[in-house]
Amino acid sequence: MLTFTELGLSPNLLKGIEDLEFKKPTPIQEKIIPIIFSSENDIIGLAQTGTGKTAAYGLPIIQNIDFEDNSVQALILSPTRELCMQIAGDMVKYSKHIKGFEVVAVYGGASIENQIRALKKGAHVIVATPGRMLDLIKRRAAKIDKIRTVVLDEADEMLNMGFREDLDSILETTPKAKRTFLFSATMPEEVARISKNYMQNATTVTIGTQNSGAENVKHIYYQVHARNRYLVLKRIADYNPDIYGIVFCRTRMETKEVADKLIKDGYNADALHGDLSQSQRDHVMKRFRERTLQMLVATDVAARGIDVSDISHVINYNLPDDLDVYTHRSGRTGRADKSGISISIVNYREKSKIPSIEKAIKKKMERQPVPNGNEICQRQLFKMIDKMEKVEVDELQIAPFMDVVNKKLEWLSKEDVIKHFVSLEFNRFLEYYKNAPDLNEKDSDKYDDGGGRGRSDRGDRRSRSDRGGRSERNDRGERGERGERSGRENRSDSYNRSDRGERTDRGDRQDRGERTERRRPEKGGYVRFFINVGKKDKLLPKNIIGLVNDYAKDRDINIGEIDMKDSFSFFEVGEKHAEKVLSSFKDGNYKGRKIVVEQAEAVGSSKKKKVRTKRGK
Ligand code: AMP
Repeated sequence: MLTFTELGLSPNLLKGIEDLEFKKPTPIQEKIIPIIFSSENDIIGLAQTGTGKTAAYGLPIIQNIDFEDNSVQALILSPTRELCMQIAGDMVKYSKHIKGFEVVAVYGGASIENQIRALKKGAHVIVATPGRMLDLIKRRAAKIDKIRTVVLDEADEMLNMGFREDLDSILETTPKAKRTFLFSATMPEEVARISKNYMQNATTVTIGTQNSGAENVKHIYYQVHARNRYLVLKRIADYNPDIYGIVFCRTRMETKEVADKLIKDGYNADALHGDLSQSQRDHVMKRFRERTLQMLVATDVAARGIDVSDISHVINYNLPDDLDVYTHRSGRTGRADKSGISISIVNYREKSKIPSIEKAIKKKMERQPVPNGNEICQRQLFKMIDKMEKVEVDELQIAPFMDVVNKKLEWLSKEDVIKHFVSLEFNRFLEYYKNAPDLNEKDSDKYDDGGGRGRSDRGDRRSRSDRGGRSERNDRGERGERGERSGRENRSDSYNRSDRGERTDRGDRQDRGERTERRRPEKGGYVRFFINVGKKDKLLPKNIIGLVNDYAKDRDINIGEIDMKDSFSFFEVGEKHAEKVLSSFKDGNYKGRKIVVEQAEAVGSSKKKKVRTKRGK
């Protein structure tokens, strides 16, 4: 293992590295720095962010700057504004003891005039997003005809984000005699094309296995019903009180919903997605970087620029379809020798994606049981006790009050004091998790429609005996107030409706064949439907939910009240899905019997809003 000195770095750079407390080079630095210094080759670095690649190319670039020459000597292209700022910031830190080194970051979403002004003052290195760079080249504000090095950082991300043409245009304006360093976590065809077209004599350096998740990342998954995803997320947060993580969601809408619920439920979370203005995004990111925010709920696109070290957990709220997306997500943790955990909340259907992810990351994803109430309480209790042990006691400050306090507590033994103290802090938590249900989905949880049509992710709750004879209250999902936690920014101790696992609650009541209460009214309301099957057909409300989900091929339909009669039933569907549900039942059958679904009169209303199906029904 080489030291930074042995890699041939100059004394002033070594001082900068020392200030940053980098003790030894990371594997990519150890491999790449000597290639840059001892050859003229281009380099393809297959490496995740978090491997130390910025320093791997950044340190030699700074060392090779010709300070006699005031032109731009290196161009670093990266996919996002955040990453640009991060890279430029790193370069400033590395060059702290090098006089006169200038690096300028340019990116979209910020004033181009200011950037032009900064460039006019002179830059040895430009760090840029492709779009803004091209714009500046066209305005003749950035001259890159003398550059000696081009770095394509996170090349796969740049191409994913649609920068292909911009990259081609920029690369075509660069001089022929230059070196190109391309870094990418994955090597899709498009990246291979860039390397073929624009690179010569490239040495490929692979850190970790190509396409693999970071070495230090442990991959686990919880298999649960889709309807319980949010409850599981809360369990994850409660089980890991020191969590500092990113929760990845599929859509902006889901990102907002999950973050809103977490905030309402008193968790220290916020959302990052494309609907936010740049200044809102900056604000969220600042809080996350400063660790004021524990959980960032983000879409993949919004999270692209996030380059934050020490992320303890990546949570996949659902499994992505694209393997590279999983690799990128999990690569956000386990950086720079730190360990990290990638947790996926997986429903039965998504489970089939696991083998291909395992193949891509060349690691096993371990199925673990969702932490139960007891385990969570133990963790929280331990954290609290630990905090209590470590609290700094200012003898002088508390001395004047101790007499009164001691007198007041005279009647309690030491053991009692401890019990009271624990209860004081902890009762709420215990209460919340006292009868928390098992959220694990069992492989045997099958959709039971008697016809063997597969399974439903909703409404298929196990029988009471299956759950070890817990009380009825127990069946109602996670009730009660969540334990108060210290350090939560957005604490809201009022017990929130959405917090109650109401789907679970409803599922149980439905299992008992009762008329159920509508869940939180959906925006725009519900449409009520008649269906020609009922209790006589040995159907339970959960089977109706299953039928709706299966026919509409959508597991996220908001189903409201279900009213089971003997030979027919009524069910409600959120307005936005009504048309889809109605048309999907055309030609439907249940155990060989034709299913008839028609729009019904809304309860308590003489009018009904007509749902139009695409067939004009
Ligand atoms: P990067 O992959 O360049 O984004 O680096 C990931 C993180 O590792 C950054 O926070 C760097 O500051 C840190 N880092 C880079 N090189 C080293 C090193 N040799 N020792 C310790 N930390 C490092």
